[in-house]
Amino acid sequence: MSKVETLPPMLCDQCAMSIPPRGCTVYGVCGKDPDLQSLQEGLIYGLKGISAYYYHAQSLGYDDPEIAHFLATALYKTLTNVDFSKENFLKMILEAGRIHIKTMELLDKAYVETYGKPQVVKVPTGTEEGHGILVTGHSYKPLYELLKQIREMGLEDKIKVYTHSEMLPAHSYPKIKEFESLYGNWGGSWVYQKKEFAEFPGVIIGTSNCVQQPTPAYADRIFTTDIAGLEGVPHLENDFTPAIKRALETPKMQKKEDGYIVTGFHHTNVLPLLDKVIDLINEGKIRHIFVVGGCDLPNPKMSYYSKLTQLIPKDSIILSAACAKFHYNRRDYGDIEGIPRFMDFGQCNNVYSIIVLAAELAKRLGKDLNELPVSIVLSWMEQKAVAILYSLLYLGIKGIYIGPVPPRFFTPPVLERLVKEFDLRLISDPEKDLREMLKKGTKVDESSPIFTN
Ligand code: SF4
Ligand code: SF4
Repeated sequence: MSKVETLPPMLCDQCAMSIPPRGCTVYGVCGKDPDLQSLQEGLIYGLKGISAYYYHAQSLGYDDPEIAHFLATALYKTLTNVDFSKENFLKMILEAGRIHIKTMELLDKAYVETYGKPQVVKVPTGTEEGHGILVTGHSYKPLYELLKQIREMGLEDKIKVYTHSEMLPAHSYPKIKEFESLYGNWGGSWVYQKKEFAEFPGVIIGTSNCVQQPTPAYADRIFTTDIAGLEGVPHLENDFTPAIKRALETPKMQKKEDGYIVTGFHHTNVLPLLDKVIDLINEGKIRHIFVVGGCDLPNPKMSYYSKLTQLIPKDSIILSAACAKFHYNRRDYGDIEGIPRFMDFGQCNNVYSIIVLAAELAKRLGKDLNELPVSIVLSWMEQKAVAILYSLLYLGIKGIYIGPVPPRFFTPPVLERLVKEFDLRLISDPEKDLREMLKKGTKVDESSPIFTN
């Protein structure tokens, strides 16, 4: 990995001893140094990611006291003058990775038991005649409630509901899909929302993170619900009547065909294909499996992921999740003897399904995870992606590519430690990286050796 361009200065203002005017930027006041500060920040980012998935699971009535206990312990550990051991914080970061896998598993269970096992579906990207409501964010619960209330009001033929960005996989859950008013997917990732929401003629509902302050073009027809909130925007709790009434005042959309996106891959529907995948690997017909996924962000380097997925040879398959895929999920990748070459597993938390499949593939091939012909290429923007990285590190997976920029909350020594122990790589040129990826499987060390100096 190339060195970070600028040294992130230490900045800690968490206690009353902080140096005026802004806080401690140097080591010495309490014993906290920049690397410890960096590790504490890194841990907190992981906790934010875990909290997001834990929140969604709890909203559906699912809980696990081990997750709550870890969140409390890890946060407490970052208080002033509790623990100055950098090794302990490295351990906590990997432990955050383990707890994060448990949290993704809990959330998956919550979704499957509440909304049914996901099915592979073709989601229209055109429009249907009727007034429109566009739901953005990550929360299926308010989407389900909205669809139910539209049905109860007898408006299913008048109002069509569209998913935006990370809400796309909602279409694959049978109990959500059954609503007649749920129609298709509108737009791309969260990055383009200000343009795409302005173009959407109906009402917009923000359910979670990655919703931004509206522009005047749609400020009078956006609502928030659940965990989301926007300054000056009405917030709805369970009763979506104001949004439904407002939608009826907006111009009707016309029917327009525009193709579709395929989504809904899940370990429950891909596991039955695994024997065939193994046969194709053994016959040399599937050379490599790429996991390309993560967040989108407004950075020109995101073109890397689009180019990489274009360059991946036709005897390889691509597994994806989260919102960066909107750069490359509209292509026809074809199949290898019936196995789709591109599988979208859904939201970032659905990386859990990919982990389950990788573990099962390793078991059936009699190899460990790092001997598989698998390369992982992540894009990160926010803290859920950070938690996913920690989970992969916890599993001991080496040679992960990350981008489009290095995590700036890690100081160079901390980053260099991760690079050394886990062979973490920063994306560079897609052609060059692809050549490297095709040469190797990833290497695993069950004992997670980051701590062995
Ligand atoms: S915790 Fe330590 S480094 Fe942070 S503000 Fe207090 S004295 Fe400064
Ligand atoms: S994948 Fe990350 S960046 Fe994309 S919408 Fe979800 S939380 Fe936001």
